[in-house]
Parts: sequence; structure tokens; C-alpha cells
Amino acid sequence: MLKKSMKKIKKTVKSVSKKRAEEPAKKNIQEEKKLILAAGLEDDEQLVVKGPKGKLPSLLRGMKDVLPKDWPYWKKIYHTAENIAEAYGFGYMETPVLEEASLFTRSIGRGTDIIEKEMYVFDDRDGTRVGMRPEFTAGAVRAYISHGMHTLPQPVKLWSFGQLFRHDRPQAGRYRQLHQFNCESFGAHDPAVDAELIVVAYNFLRDLGIETIVQMNSIGTSEDRQNYLVELTGYLRTKRSYLCEDCKKRITRNPLRVLDCKNESCRPTLEEAPQIVDWLSEASKNYFMKVLEFLDELEVPYTLKPTLVRGLDYYTETVFEIYEDPSTSSGQAPSAGSTGSPQAGAGQQSALCGGGRYDLLVGELGGPPTPACGFALGVERVMTILRRKAEENKDKIEKESGGVFFAHLGEQARRRTLKMIEDLRRDGVVLHHSLGKTALKAQLELANKFAVAYTLILGQKEVQDGTIIIRDMESGIQEIVDQKKLKSELEKKTKI
Ligand code: AMP
Repeated sequence: MLKKSMKKIKKTVKSVSKKRAEEPAKKNIQEEKKLILAAGLEDDEQLVVKGPKGKLPSLLRGMKDVLPKDWPYWKKIYHTAENIAEAYGFGYMETPVLEEASLFTRSIGRGTDIIEKEMYVFDDRDGTRVGMRPEFTAGAVRAYISHGMHTLPQPVKLWSFGQLFRHDRPQAGRYRQLHQFNCESFGAHDPAVDAELIVVAYNFLRDLGIETIVQMNSIGTSEDRQNYLVELTGYLRTKRSYLCEDCKKRITRNPLRVLDCKNESCRPTLEEAPQIVDWLSEASKNYFMKVLEFLDELEVPYTLKPTLVRGLDYYTETVFEIYEDPSTSSGQAPSAGSTGSPQAGAGQQSALCGGGRYDLLVGELGGPPTPACGFALGVERVMTILRRKAEENKDKIEKESGGVFFAHLGEQARRRTLKMIEDLRRDGVVLHHSLGKTALKAQLELANKFAVAYTLILGQKEVQDGTIIIRDMESGIQEIVDQKKLKSELEKKTKI
């Protein structure tokens, strides 16, 4: 009897202590659940909570932790972006991750992968339909309009760096949370602006020790495209049976996007398709030629890629993508990026950067008609290359000056200006300029707004003489110096 009672007591004590041991864990989970609900998170997005059985929610597909071992690369990429963007006179801007979903659907376009398949969209707690930014341009345009930036001296040049979200199919070089270095230039329809953006992206990669090749195309204005699209649609209809299911669907909805298909089986048909360059107006052709001439002048290597159209709806005229130069890449580049490949066929590479001109978007989103151009560069893909490279580039541009303004007079001087800006920038000089403006007065006014101490003035005569004028902006005193001595003169004056 006593034995039986002792057994019962022991059993009760055991179950009570087991219960007590479990209680804090259960309480903990309940508390966390409350927190999760209060934070408006879904259960499967919950904070990492260790339950009684030790079940740890896993890292979501396509998401990555940045660990201490990654940080030196991130830092290097971020600082290189910051240096280059600021040296070219871009101002940093951050827009929110969440925006009204319609901002993205209206800008990027309904027939695109990003909108149809990849955007994270949900109703916010107040019922607003919101989207997590899948790219920077739409937010930058919204900010440009909502902060009245068209009243500032143009072009307004903005750069951003941060994460974006696309529910892409995760694979090497493609994540659902990705990061980009992004630059936009608003307010100038000028081939020099397109070329400058390409040079910024190209130099950013070169400063990181990555040799690249730029692919160029022009998709003309929307008027140029009207006749071309009729021709293209006709061609694609006749080749329908050779195309993948996605392409078949796009023939009527968004034929231009068919050209962008990454499916290997479609490539031969698409390579044979009518080319948009043959349908460009004289004005668009000339514009494109000028962009290419600037690139020649700046010694930026490029190839023409007639099927390059970019995935988004808002582009007009210049479009470009940048790839690691295959002749310098020792390793296997990640495959099949969201933005095409340098050579169709074997050894597909992912684009590191994509961009182009979008002259209609500001107007379409309710702002004053404003031409614009920009690029986005994928940070994770750059990281992969940096990791792959045994040696890191030590080339650093340190600069601690408020900058100088570079003014030009006449077409010949304008051409020379780009190259000189390039050389000075390499020497660490922070430069502001406005290649879109032609009148010296307007340029000097802009120089005053940038509050620089000195303006460099290059006219026709100076181009021929090999000289340049340095103007002290406070006293108005100007001196003529030999272009070869410009760097040392500036060093004396600005202590760069
Ligand atoms: P896009 O905004 O699609 O033109 O892409 C610009 C650049 O961002 C690409 O060239 C890639 O380097 C990078 N990128 C685009 N999508 C992804 C992704 N899902 N994961 C990682 N990087 C990406």
C-alpha cells in the first residue's frame, strides 16, 4: 500500500516538474506569437524562435544573411559606389522599401515579369495596396516629382544603394532580396548624359578591378517603335511554332519583350528577327551615334546588340547592359541572369548592370515632361566576382575637396571636356559640370549654386592652344594655364 502511494507521488512529482519545465518555453512562444501578430507578420515569416522541440524556422528561399566574412566586400563595393557617384556629382537619395503598388505597375508595365510574377504585393493594415520595391527607378521618379526637384538646377543626379525584392526563381546570381547601386539623371536629353552614366557604371566596375564590356542598343522613341512593332509581330507570328510558351503569349501582349527571352531554344529565331535599329528615325539614329561617339572618345569598349531591349516598359532610345569581359574572367560566371547574356548560346553570363533612357516616365507619372536616364548595378553579382578574384584592386581615390566646376564653350570643347573630366576624376578631383547647357552664363550660375571655389573654362581657343582658364569664383580673377599643369595648379589651390 505504502509502496503504491510512493509510486503515485513520484509519478505526480515527475509530471509536475515536466510541466513546469515546459511552461516557460510555451509562454515564450505565446509571447513571440503575440509580438509577431502585433508586428503584422505572417506566421511563416516569424522571428527566429526556438520552440520546445528546437525547431528553427529556416532562412527564406532566395534570401541571404550578410555575415562578418562578407562585410569587407560590401564595404568596398559601397565605398567605391559612394566615391564614384559623388565624384560625378550625384547626390545620395533613399526612397522607402514600401510604396503604393500602383507606382510600380504603372512604371514598370503590366506585361513584364517583375509585375506579373515577381513583385511582393500585399494590403497594408489600412487597406492600402502596397508593393516592396523591385527596382529603384519608379521610387526615384516619384521622389523627383513629389519633392518638386524639377525646380532645381538640371540635370538632377541621384544615386541610391539598397535592397530590392523580387520573387524570382532563386539560383546562382538571382536572389529574392537583392541589392543594387543605382544612378539616375533627370532633366537632360543629351547623349553626353547617357554616355556619362555608362562611364560611371563602367568606371565603378573598373575601380573594383573588373574588366567589362558594354552592350549597346537604341529602341528609339515610341513613334519609331510603332511601325517596327507591326513588322516584328508579323515575323513572330510566322515563327510561332519555334517559340517557347512565354514568347507565344507575349507576341500580342508585349512583342518587344519576346526579344528579351532567355530561353535557348528561342534564340536562333530571335537572332533572325527584324532589328529595331533599321526603324529608327534620323533623330534617334543621330542621338544614338552621338552616344557611341562619346563612348569611343572615352575609350569605353562596347558592342552593338540589336536584340537588347531590356525587360521594362519605360525605356526610350538608349539601352545598355554591362557584362564582365569574358576574356578576363577566369571562373565560371553565374548563369542566366534576369537581363540577358553577352553571347547567346553556351557559357551564358549574367549582366552586372542594366540601364537606359526613359524620357516619358516622369510625365506619365504626373510630373512635368522630363527626360531622364539611369542604370542599376547588381551588388551580389559584383560580390561573386570580387570573391572569385584572388587579388583585390588596391586603387583608391581619396578626395577631400568641395570640388570644382567644369564649364565649356562650343561643341569641340564639350567633346574634349568629357575626356578631361575623366582624367581629372581619376586624379581625385571632385567635379561638377553641366554638359547639357551651352551658355557660359548659365554654367557659371550653376557653378555658383554648387558653391565651388573655382571653375575651369574650356573654349574653342583653349582646346586649340592646349590651355584652360581657371576662374576664382569669389574674386572673378581668371588665369590661363597649360592643360598639362592643370592638376598641379588645382593641387596648389584646392589642396586635393
Ligand atoms: P534590372 O533591374 O533587372 O535591370 O537588373 C539590374 C542588375 O541587377 C542586373 O544586371 C543584375 O546585376 C542585378 N539583378 C537583377 N535581378 C537580380 C536578382 N534577382 N538577384 C540578384 N541580382 C539581380
